[in-house]
Amino acid sequence: MTRRPRYTLGMSTRSTEPHTQLHEERLALLARLEDEFADLPAEAILKEDLLRTGISFDDEALLFSGEFKTKSYFIFSFDMVPISEMTRDENLRAPEEMRFSGGDHGYRPTTVSVRVNPASPYRGFVRDGQLRIGCGARELADVELLPVPEYYLRTLENGQPVHEVAPTIEWGYLMYLTVYRKCQYFGFQEECRFCDINENYRQQVKAGRPYRTVKPVDEVLEALSIIGETSSAAKAYTLTGGSITRTLKGESEADFYAAYARAIEEKFPGRWIGKVVAQALPEDEQKKFRDAGIQVYHPNYEVWDERLFEILCPGKTSYVGRSEWHRRIIAARDIFGAENVIPNFVAGIEMSKPHGFTDPKEAIASTTEGLDWFMSQGVCPRFTVWCPEPLSPLVMEREAAGEVQGPAPLEYHVGLLRAWRDTHKKHGLPVPPGYGPPGAGNALFSVSSFMDVIEV
Ligand code: SF4
Repeated sequence: MTRRPRYTLGMSTRSTEPHTQLHEERLALLARLEDEFADLPAEAILKEDLLRTGISFDDEALLFSGEFKTKSYFIFSFDMVPISEMTRDENLRAPEEMRFSGGDHGYRPTTVSVRVNPASPYRGFVRDGQLRIGCGARELADVELLPVPEYYLRTLENGQPVHEVAPTIEWGYLMYLTVYRKCQYFGFQEECRFCDINENYRQQVKAGRPYRTVKPVDEVLEALSIIGETSSAAKAYTLTGGSITRTLKGESEADFYAAYARAIEEKFPGRWIGKVVAQALPEDEQKKFRDAGIQVYHPNYEVWDERLFEILCPGKTSYVGRSEWHRRIIAARDIFGAENVIPNFVAGIEMSKPHGFTDPKEAIASTTEGLDWFMSQGVCPRFTVWCPEPLSPLVMEREAAGEVQGPAPLEYHVGLLRAWRDTHKKHGLPVPPGYGPPGAGNALFSVSSFMDVIEV
């Protein structure tokens, strides 16, 4: 494999940015991991680090990015500071996603979700009219942003903005329909400890975003109609939101979410790949999704380790239980077909304090055991990179104890990429459907690099 140049000062440096020991250490870490994981795309290593650490933007970069497609806060905050601590309106100006490329490494175009963190060693800045990212004085890559799509400028007949009802991510590929903005796993005894869905709802409403708890079906249809008329990039939709442990508007979880799928498929039959994120429900309930036209089912298991699942997912543990959750995931193969059962886990929470693994190798070994268990049965889990959100219980608890809940080490995330790629290859599984093209330089999935490491 051709080695790319290491990060060293002396080329493409910027004199305006202070270069501290922190930046130097981060660049050395990137260089070391690139050597150790030379079989992984270098782009994926930087992408994982941007996801776990976040990025800050200087004033000019925020003004620049505010002219492009900005963060829609499509479900969670995915930021590392609360809005109340964003002194420069980053919540309104930071881009939803960036596509970095070039630089000394000659990076292939790589799409990554933006997580605001004013303390990040990575910074967005503008030079010669071009947005770029750097680490201290080291310039790393050029950045392309997605222009505001026409549908983001449109409103529904009742005045609701299309981007609130049906925001898109993955460079316009996925319409993200969070039709229920809260979760009935509520409070410290039930909500998943890494999750800020309910707190994010509160902070967004307080900040003036037109969040509503439930999106009416007819508004979703109207928004999709506008997107369908104006965009050919959208290829899939995800119906999602919090868990419904009792009923919502008199409906069970399956009935509630299936009603949206049915309405979409009746109005736009087979137009997009339909996906639903829901609990691992009993088989009769799962069938309601399939019968409504859903292709891909995401019954997320969050973390593999048994002890950590019980600690980090207390609601899922008490309402369903880990072994039953897993049994239902496997049972879903008979309903959707194995390749269409794609449970998510949140990569990194197995290293959260105070209960998680402290050794990245042990954390990867545990997670790989789960990958092997699912993949040997034809089910392909995927993952998102954990963002320690300040309003999530995991972070708030540590803060109350006077500690910092940082992200999992980059070594863990890079090792996991290799483990996921190798386990996927070992079991000869297909490219997961509903994520767009695979491979470095092509992948659109922006909240982890699992699609970037599939070899094509
Ligand atoms: S089930 Fe857990 S992760 Fe999902 S929205 Fe509810 S609290 Fe968050």
